[in-house]
Amino acid sequence: MSSRAWIGRWRAGILAELRQMLAVCRTTALGLLFPPRCAWCDRELDHPAGPLLCDGCQEALGPRQWPSCRRCGAEAAPGLPLPDGCPLCLHTPFQFETVVTLGGYRGELRRAILAMKRPFGEPLAAALGQLLLSRRGNELNAWKLDSIVPIPMHWRRRLVRKTNGPDRLASELGCGLGLPVLARVLRRCRNTLPQKNLLPRERFRNVRGAFRLARRGGWTGRRVALVDDVMTTGATANEAARLLKQAGADAVIVVVLARAEGEDRR
Ligand SMILES: [Zn+2]
Ligand SMILES: [Zn+2]
Repeated sequence: MSSRAWIGRWRAGILAELRQMLAVCRTTALGLLFPPRCAWCDRELDHPAGPLLCDGCQEALGPRQWPSCRRCGAEAAPGLPLPDGCPLCLHTPFQFETVVTLGGYRGELRRAILAMKRPFGEPLAAALGQLLLSRRGNELNAWKLDSIVPIPMHWRRRLVRKTNGPDRLASELGCGLGLPVLARVLRRCRNTLPQKNLLPRERFRNVRGAFRLARRGGWTGRRVALVDDVMTTGATANEAARLLKQAGADAVIVVVLARAEGEDRR
């Protein structure tokens, strides 16, 4: 990225952060001076106390309903019940119970997720988390969760990206659902190869032993939501779920902004 482009993005990020701070005083004179803007298209919002994304962007980021496989979150034909899994996951013994997602990893949603992972993408991550809550909040509440655990990036990758979308996403979900976010209990103990260069079978092998639990006790009977931006084969989430189940967790679900499949796998 050129230094000029970087400065532009830095300035946009600072402005977006400022707008987020000002969101708390939207009804004050300060809020009138700096009206909140859509976190994706930057258009001035019609309802200052409402969502962080305008109506148009919410529509563009995907349909309200996402008929999907209950096990792996892959898109399913409307009305098709899939209690035992779809062709993508039928023979994969996942350790998690289900995948809750906004939609498929494509189009506008894919572009927004990629932007959220760039430097200063946190306000967009918060806005996408808010959209996920507004559309899937009831489903998440029905799982009677008691904590949220973000899937961590390796520190080296975090340093390069200068942002941590999944952490910000997890705080937004924790805030909305009234659940504690346990941001440091799951640790990456080695930097894995980028999953995108591997075959699905190799991805499961690549992440084996990639995590450790910083807190071993206190998981018995727990109901945990693992949070990440995108799920592809589910290998990473599965490894994290395996650890939590081994430590005694009763249920582990995966919450992601998008589910990648087919040509769109990253
Ligand atoms: Zn917008
Ligand atoms: Zn499936």
